[in-house]
Amino acid sequence: MTEDEDSLAERKMRFLYALRSRGITDGRVLTAMEAIDRGAFVKGIFADRAYEDTPLPIACGQTISQPSIVALMTQALSLNPRDRVMEIGTGSGYQAAILSQLARRVYTIDRHRRLVREAEEVFQALNLPNITAFTGDGSHGLPDQAPFDRILVTAAAEDPPGPLLAQLKVGGIMVVPVGQTDAVQTLIKVVRTEDSFEYEELRSVRFVPLVEGLASE
Ligand code: SAH
Repeated sequence: MTEDEDSLAERKMRFLYALRSRGITDGRVLTAMEAIDRGAFVKGIFADRAYEDTPLPIACGQTISQPSIVALMTQALSLNPRDRVMEIGTGSGYQAAILSQLARRVYTIDRHRRLVREAEEVFQALNLPNITAFTGDGSHGLPDQAPFDRILVTAAAEDPPGPLLAQLKVGGIMVVPVGQTDAVQTLIKVVRTEDSFEYEELRSVRFVPLVEGLASE
């Protein structure tokens, strides 16, 4: 084994250890995080930092989320293998790939055409056929595919967008960061009941903003 390979294996092991020590206890989530190589989603000069528990820059001025936050959000969704999930904010595609291991179908949407195209290439390379990626303004959700068992928003909104709440099934769960986009936000878990929505605050987080409309690239 070369020194590089050795340190790569070690880095991957430390990556999983860090998740456990940050409160990720769900064995299925840990297995998904082990199966999906974050290194496939980080390109260029930051590639060698893929196994650090830190957000990293990706194309179009966006970021791939911190792995422990990806794991925490996934855990909060309590996914069932039969679930249809919608993710707003494809970004690198990493979070969608994790979801694809735990749900039946993943619909992911980003306002940057370029990010969607690049993520689709990685989904194909990793053979993840149960993910469908769309370019569009995710704040409107995907009315044609609704309703969803689970919804994950990976960009911060001032409030959970109404159209997304409307596309959540009764009994369904949505996880969304809310708050001012230039400050610390709160990650919220929303559960839809027969006649209302229940809200639970999970922790503070920092996400890029949910922006209206399509981007230029
Ligand atoms: N889940 C991603 C990280 C998301 S970063 C990952 O695993 O890598 C947030 C993403 O949300 C960015 O790519 C940004 O382009 C996207 N975004 C922001 N506003 C949006 C909107 N209204 N509709 C769709 N995507 C949006």
